[in-house]
Amino acid sequence: MAVITEPLKNQADLLRRGLADLRAEDAELAAILDAEVTRQQHTLSLVSSSCAVQPRTLAASASVLVNVTAEGMSGKHHSAGCENVERVESLAIRRARQLFGAQYANVQPHSASNAVYQVLTALLEPGDTLLGMAVEHGGHLTHGSLAAFSGAYYKAIQYGTTADGLIDYDKVRLLALAHRPRVILCGASAYSREVDFKRFREIADEAGAILLADISHIAGLVATGRHPSPIDAAHVTVTCTHKQLAGPRGGVILSGADANTKIPGLRTTFSRLLDQAVYPRMQGAPAANMIAAKAAALGYAMSAAFDACMAQIRSTADEMAKAFQAKEYEVVGGCSENHTVLVRLRGGITGAIAEAALGHCGIIVSKHRVPEDPRSALVTSGLRIGTGALAQRRVDVHGSRQIVDLIVRILNTVAPLGEQDYTLEPLLLTQFRSEVETLCRDYPLADYQ
Ligand SMILES: *Cc1c(COP(=O)(O)O)cnc(C)c1O
Repeated sequence: MAVITEPLKNQADLLRRGLADLRAEDAELAAILDAEVTRQQHTLSLVSSSCAVQPRTLAASASVLVNVTAEGMSGKHHSAGCENVERVESLAIRRARQLFGAQYANVQPHSASNAVYQVLTALLEPGDTLLGMAVEHGGHLTHGSLAAFSGAYYKAIQYGTTADGLIDYDKVRLLALAHRPRVILCGASAYSREVDFKRFREIADEAGAILLADISHIAGLVATGRHPSPIDAAHVTVTCTHKQLAGPRGGVILSGADANTKIPGLRTTFSRLLDQAVYPRMQGAPAANMIAAKAAALGYAMSAAFDACMAQIRSTADEMAKAFQAKEYEVVGGCSENHTVLVRLRGGITGAIAEAALGHCGIIVSKHRVPEDPRSALVTSGLRIGTGALAQRRVDVHGSRQIVDLIVRILNTVAPLGEQDYTLEPLLLTQFRSEVETLCRDYPLADYQ
């Protein structure tokens, strides 16, 4: 047992003490956490949702606010002793509104999935109709998949992309007019082109639907003006805080021009309904320490450093898309307009094999289905590459080309055995691993860990 010699005076004392205790008294857990730091530093993550938090955000998430129960919304916390939770929540809300130019922000949702469900359950009765993008076409489970709550509790109509990988807006309109959904969801998890939020709003207005935009994947690009913003186009927007925003695991609900308008068919406004949708309808007390971390991340997202990182995300995605095309790979959608590059594999290499073989070499990337994919979601024929974590390593044009070149050499070397198995010569594997190691050294995650 560690002996307490004097009371802990501040947050820094507490963190130092916590880390020392962890090392001294729970070596098993400490070793796993250290192994993860090593893994993240010595692999290249091309996972399209991935990014590393700033140390300041990490520290804020570990604050003593975790000890406070503060049921209720900002300004109306029920419990005693909530004055600092109140201050931190107001700060996070102010920053979220400023960053996105929103009238309304709710920073309590524990995740983006929760945030989507909070909005849906507030606006829909079980069995009501929603229209969302199919997972197989790049949508998210919460947008109407039968495997999730969204598809099980609502009558979910799904739209997708054309064979070229572009959202088929005419089809969306026809589906909306035919099925008259109460809510239309837009925003994707695997879509490399701009989403036309204004077009979606026109369709929603024509069909008498409420538009919910989910910008979990592109929130940083939206915040820095590199992707059109849905804040005023959609009635409600949700985002997670742990992808491009480099914050803690959590969600935010936003609303712009419609925040204080009455909801069709209801006697209340969006902002009032959204507050109730989170508490008391779906959550209890918020995770105040995570709200502090959201405030830290949202503050960082207003910095010049963050802006530069978002610029790098875009240029790296452009460069990688071109580099794959130069090697005669099909890039779905023809190019990237965000952080995502969706590549169709060839030569009998399935997504499952590519993911496993590249992972073995230290390049972490997800398999993904591509338009008209003959293979199942477990196998797939594509790779979904994201440039968020590479931008944080400041991978430049030269580095982007080197990485694509390495990926292509690895894929050319792999010998597939069916759909999931493969062989890769041990000598070459060692060679590829050391090339990844060199890239990780040349482009370190220095500012982040
Ligand atoms: C990642 C993602 C989510 C889910 O976020 P969680 O916070 O992990 O629940 C929701 N919607 C979209 C479009 C996403 O890409």
